[in-house]
Amino acid sequence: MRCTRFRRLVVLMEVSALSERQRTAFHHHSEHCPLCAQFLTEMRTVQRLVRGQSAALPPAGFQASVMERIRVVKSRGTQQPKA
Ligand SMILES: [Zn+2]
Repeated sequence: MRCTRFRRLVVLMEVSALSERQRTAFHHHSEHCPLCAQFLTEMRTVQRLVRGQSAALPPAGFQASVMERIRVVKSRGTQQPKA
């Protein structure tokens, strides 16, 4: 397996679609090629960050619900605190 093939598989996350023999070649390459091993580690970090990012996104309709509450509060007018 060559570096270009290895990296394409990592980027496309196609590793799980590999045959047993290809997967063995993939792991063999990552164990013997420090540059690709580092590339794999970096891509896994990116994957983890992306997953964490999507989990932190607000649920659907959140923004609309917040904007609606702001409209309701504004329509009530400004309430002055009693002195
Ligand atoms: Zn390599």
